Amino acid sequence: MGITTMRPDLLNPLFAQVSGLAGVGPGLARPLERLGLTRLRDLAYHLPDRFVARRVVARLDDAAIGENIVIGLTVREHRASTGRGPHRVLAEDSSGDIVQLTYFGRAAHSARKLLPPGERRWVAGRLDQYGQTRQIVHPDHIASDSSELAGQLAEPVYPLTVGLTGARIGALIGQALGAMPALPEWIEPGLLARQGWPGWREALIAAHKSPDRAARDRLAYDELLAQSLALMLVRATNRTRRGVPLRGDGAMRARLDLPFALTGAQSRAIAEIEADMQQGAPMLRLLQGDVGSGKTAVALHAMLIAVEAGAQAALLAPTEILARQHFATLQRMAAGTGVTIALLTGRGSARGGARAREATLIGLMDGSIQLLVGTHAIFQDGVAYKNLALVVIDEQHRFGVGQRLMLTQKARTIAHCLAMTATPIPRTLTLAQYGEMDVSRLDEMPPGRQPIDTRVIAADRIDDVIAGVGRHLAAGGQAYWVCPMVRELESEDIAAAEARHAALKARFGDGVELVHGQLRPDAKDAAMDRFARGAAGLLVATTVIEVGVDVPNATLMVIEQAERFGLAQLHQLRGRVGRGSGKSTCLLLRGEALSETGRERLALMRETQDGFRLAEEDLRLRGGGELLGTRQSGDTAFRVADFDQIARLLPVAHDDARLLMERDGGLASTRGEAARILLYLFERDWGVQLLRGG
Ligand code: ADP
Ligand code: MG
Repeated sequence: MGITTMRPDLLNPLFAQVSGLAGVGPGLARPLERLGLTRLRDLAYHLPDRFVARRVVARLDDAAIGENIVIGLTVREHRASTGRGPHRVLAEDSSGDIVQLTYFGRAAHSARKLLPPGERRWVAGRLDQYGQTRQIVHPDHIASDSSELAGQLAEPVYPLTVGLTGARIGALIGQALGAMPALPEWIEPGLLARQGWPGWREALIAAHKSPDRAARDRLAYDELLAQSLALMLVRATNRTRRGVPLRGDGAMRARLDLPFALTGAQSRAIAEIEADMQQGAPMLRLLQGDVGSGKTAVALHAMLIAVEAGAQAALLAPTEILARQHFATLQRMAAGTGVTIALLTGRGSARGGARAREATLIGLMDGSIQLLVGTHAIFQDGVAYKNLALVVIDEQHRFGVGQRLMLTQKARTIAHCLAMTATPIPRTLTLAQYGEMDVSRLDEMPPGRQPIDTRVIAADRIDDVIAGVGRHLAAGGQAYWVCPMVRELESEDIAAAEARHAALKARFGDGVELVHGQLRPDAKDAAMDRFARGAAGLLVATTVIEVGVDVPNATLMVIEQAERFGLAQLHQLRGRVGRGSGKSTCLLLRGEALSETGRERLALMRETQDGFRLAEEDLRLRGGGELLGTRQSGDTAFRVADFDQIARLLPVAHDDARLLMERDGGLASTRGEAARILLYLFERDWGVQLLRGG
C-alpha cells in the first residue's frame, strides 16, 4: 500500500525495525513486541513511567531511612550465606559507620566480584533499616569511580515486561535516540517561545533523562496536534465531498415490531440521524451511550432508513463474537420488515463455509443483501457493494476512530457514518478522540432497569460465592464468572481461567463453558452460542465478554481479583448483567493485599452505576491513563499525552490546528510541510492521504 512508500525519507531512521539494533536477537524481539516496540520510533517514545531520584551523601547519617542514595564506601568483609540466609557485605562510610549490603541467591556471585574487601566503591541504592543495622538490599549500581554514577542521580524507570530488564531497554533506547534525525519545527514559533519548549529531538532526549515537564509537554502537544489536524482534515474533506441524501419512506420502520417502546433519548438520536442523512454532505456522527442504553436499536433505525431509500447499510463490529450477536439480534428485531441481512467475518462461518461466503459477496454486489453485519472483513478488497450508503461502526471504545472514518471516505460516493461508543468520556476528551464530529447522547436508560446489586467480597469466602452460584443455576438462572487477564501474565492468567473452569465444571457439570482470547475461534463461537441460547448456564471468561455481549437472562456476575481491573473495564463488564427487568447481582472478589486506592475504587463500584461518574472518579484516583484505555488495550488514540496534558493542552492544539488549516489548508507552506511530517510521525498519515484527494 502507498502509505509507507509516501513517507518522507527524513523519517526512515525512525521507522527502521528494532531488530536491526545491535544486540537484539530473537530472545529480545518477543518481549519488545509485547510492549509494542517494533520500530526505533516506538523505542524513542517509550517514555519512563517515573524516575528514581538519588542524592549523593557523604555519610550514612546524612541520609534518611528509605532514601535512594549514592555513597562512597570502603568494603570491609564478606559474610557468606549460611543455609537460606542472604550473603552480607559489610562496608563503612567516611566516618566509620557500617552499612550492610545484602544479596539473596545467585546475586552473591556478583557481589564478590564487584566488592573486593579493602577497596573503595561508589554504591547506589535504597537505604533501609534491618533491626539495628542499616542495609542496602541488592544495590542498584556499584562503580569504582563516582563519575560513573553521575548519570544515575535521576534514573528512568521504564514500563517493562517479562524477559526485559530496565538496563537492557535503557541501552536500546539510547541507541534509538542516537539515530533520531533533527526534524523541521511544526509548532507555531510564538507558542514554542511562550511555553519555553525545546525542539523535538531535544525534548525526546530530555524526557528520558529527567522528569522534565517542558519536554514531556512538548511531546504530548505534538501528539495532540497531530490528532487535531488529522481529524480536521477528515472533517474538511467531508464537507467538500458529496454524499447521497437518503430519505426513507418509513415503510420498513413501520413494520418493525420491537418488544419495547423507544426511550426519549433513542427517539431524539434517531431524529438527529435521520436529519443528517437527508443532507447532501455525508453524516459524521457519534452516538454516545453508556452500556445498556440501547444503541443497537438506534443503529437499526438508521440502517432501515438507508434501505428504505434504496441503498445498502453495513454494521462494523470490533470482534467476531459481537458481529455474530448483532447479526442474530438484528435478524430477530427486523424479522417483520422484510429486510435482507447477511453476516460476513474474517473466516468462513462454521456452518456455511466458502459457499455461503460466496453467496454473500454476490448478494452484496447485486444488491439483494441490503444490510451487512461483520468485522473489518466487510471492507476488505474483493468485497464490493452495489450501493453502500451508510456505515455504522460499533466502536465499543476499541477502534481508533479516525482510521475507521477513512473507510467511509474511500467509498466511491461518500457513505454516511455513524460511530457508536460506550466509553463514558467527558466533553474535552470527546473532542480529542472524535474531533468535530456531531454527537448524539443516549442519556436515558430504558425503563424498568433495576440497579445492579454490587458487593465486594474477600477472596477467602470463595466457597460461599460458589455455593451462591450453585443456587442461582439451580433456579434456572445464568451467570458469568470473569477471570482477570493482563498482557504481561497472559499464559498464567489463561491457566488460572482454565483451572477455574475445570473446578466449576467438576462441581456443576456440563453446563459450564469457557471462553478466552487464545481459544480457537470456532470453539469460542460454540461456547458463546451455547451460553446465549441458554444451553449452558455458566460462562467462565477472561475479558473477551467485555465487548457488548447481550444475554438478558444472565443476571449474576462474579469477578475474580476485581482489584486488577480498571474501573472503566469493571463498568463495561458489569454492564453485561442488569439488561433485563430481573434483579441482577455483581460480586467483586478482592485479594488480600489491597491498597487504599484499590479499596476506594471497589467501593465506588458498589456506590454508583453512572459511567461518567466512575470515569471521573477513576481519573481522580489514578490519573487518567485508563480512561482512554491506554496501557490496557494498547490501541487508543494517545500514547504520549496523559489526561492532565490532554486537559491542559488539547484546547491549544485544537485552536492551533484550526488556524493552520485556515491559513494553509493544503499544508503547502514551510510549516505545513513540517506538519505533514508530524502526521507521519504519529501515523496519522490517513490525514495526509486525504489531502491528495484520497
Ligand atoms: P448498548 O447500548 O450497550 O449496545 P443494547 O443495544 O445492547 O445496548 O441494549 C441493551 C438491552 O436493552 C437489550 O437487551 C435491548 O433489547 C434492550 N433495550 C434497548 N432499548 C430499549 C428500550 N427502549 N426499552 C427497553 N429495553 C430496551
Ligand atoms: Mg452494544
